[in-house]
Amino acid sequence: MGTKYIFITGGVVSSLGKGIIGASLGRLLRARGFSVAIQKFDPYINVDPGTMSPFQHGEVFVTNDGAETDLDLGHYERFIDADFAQINNVTSGSIYQTVINKERKGEYLGATVQVVPHITNEIKSRIYKATEQFKPDFMIIEIGGTIGDIESLPFIEAIRQFKTEIGIGNAISVHCTLLPYLPTSGELKTKPSQHSVNVLRSYGIQPEILVCRTSYPLPEDEKEKLALFCSVQKDAVIECRDMKSIYEVPLALEEQNMAAVVLNLLQTCYKRADLKSWEKLVERIRNPKRTLEVAIAGKYTKLSDAYISVVEALKHAGYANEAKINIHWINSEDCVDYEKCKELMSGIQAVVVPGGFGVRGIEGKLNVIRYARENNVPFLGLCLGMQCAVIEYARHVLGIEDANSREFSEECEKPVIDLMLDQKDVTAYGGTMRLGQYECHLRKNSVARKAYGTDVIFERHRHRYEVNNAYIEDLEKAGLIFSGKSPNGKLMEMIELPNLDWFVASQFHPEFKSRPERPHPLFKGLIDAAVKQSK
Ligand code: GLN
Repeated sequence: MGTKYIFITGGVVSSLGKGIIGASLGRLLRARGFSVAIQKFDPYINVDPGTMSPFQHGEVFVTNDGAETDLDLGHYERFIDADFAQINNVTSGSIYQTVINKERKGEYLGATVQVVPHITNEIKSRIYKATEQFKPDFMIIEIGGTIGDIESLPFIEAIRQFKTEIGIGNAISVHCTLLPYLPTSGELKTKPSQHSVNVLRSYGIQPEILVCRTSYPLPEDEKEKLALFCSVQKDAVIECRDMKSIYEVPLALEEQNMAAVVLNLLQTCYKRADLKSWEKLVERIRNPKRTLEVAIAGKYTKLSDAYISVVEALKHAGYANEAKINIHWINSEDCVDYEKCKELMSGIQAVVVPGGFGVRGIEGKLNVIRYARENNVPFLGLCLGMQCAVIEYARHVLGIEDANSREFSEECEKPVIDLMLDQKDVTAYGGTMRLGQYECHLRKNSVARKAYGTDVIFERHRHRYEVNNAYIEDLEKAGLIFSGKSPNGKLMEMIELPNLDWFVASQFHPEFKSRPERPHPLFKGLIDAAVKQSK
């Protein structure tokens, strides 16, 4: 069969969890043996989110091919259990960049370049390109933002054209809305959803499926009302209630036969789903045998989305251990005072120092790592977290008091962390880091080698700085093990202290590869160690 398309839009409010809904539908189709690819359209003018503050936009997700993408791609990878790429995230900025570059090259032969057809054509060509690259049975395309926003209009217009082009039975629209609850009358209100569908219709799109986010069960008569006013079949009005865990959503949608409705609308033969392992996963999530107190010590602790893949990876490792992970957000700036740091770290059973940029809070991170090292608290350092662990070891074990990273101090005399050689001439910020998947060789008999169960690994990167090779010999003599290196042995990818229960850090970002049913070995190692200590 040719690829079938499912467009997902959102209405009423932002942050509805369209990504989770799309990803859950993807899982339900995958569970039926179909291949699924996705695309996320982001209506902002940034070419990619790589230059955006995590405070505003949340985590920057990194794909194997080195794209810096929206964090929803992480959800899609985790739910669908597939690897996506640059083509799977499309921003207005990247569309306009391509069109303007073509215009400058004279490719439009003197035509006036316009939103319709030039921008919309470029958007459609990205859909075709992703189809070509992945050749999926189903392509789920999520349009970021809320219906009614000015920004997303070219995307909406492009999908209107696309739906007509490929004909009935090959593409559907799923509109996600919110049903607000009025406590005074004890009712769920459907009017905002009706209005939102009206706006969508005014753009020429009649949704086939309505997914309603709600905190309470959606009564049958309200469902009928929504179906009537929004011109959607009643069984295509899907309730999506708040869940304790996002991983419960696929099962909730399956209970309402959402996949069956989709297959029917897309004229595809019905297949039964095999959701046994997912059901087992949810069973473990719902019935944890223990709780673990795990800290994330970083700079963006006010917005948990800034470290969403780290949080999910910790949870995945928890599920494997039948443990609920209780996350403690430690603002590294609060740890600059070592006494305060000790206080915040008391009772913590495992700690992650995640990636980041800039000098703020660094001394606090060093204190957290020192505390973990001296008190044998299981520790995992990610990217900047590994760089900090090297600085901490150099300062407090090797005795290089002024050891630092060139990132934090340009004129520093003992840069144990320094700018990578090929970064020295880089002036532009966007997309210029060492990005994406690289090979890493693990040291025999190391903790890392045992955790991975293999000699060669491939992990995703996003950094400009690295361990300075001039200090490696001294650091090794002082007991720090470099357990992972690039194939030519020149770039330090992992460190460990094998005498502690778990003290491991990586220059790469393992969190991007963790999956709910397959926790990442480094996160699993961390949580395993914490569980062992608790016994
Ligand atoms: N700022 C550090 C670097 O550029 C670490 C980056 C990160 O943690 N992703 O190397």
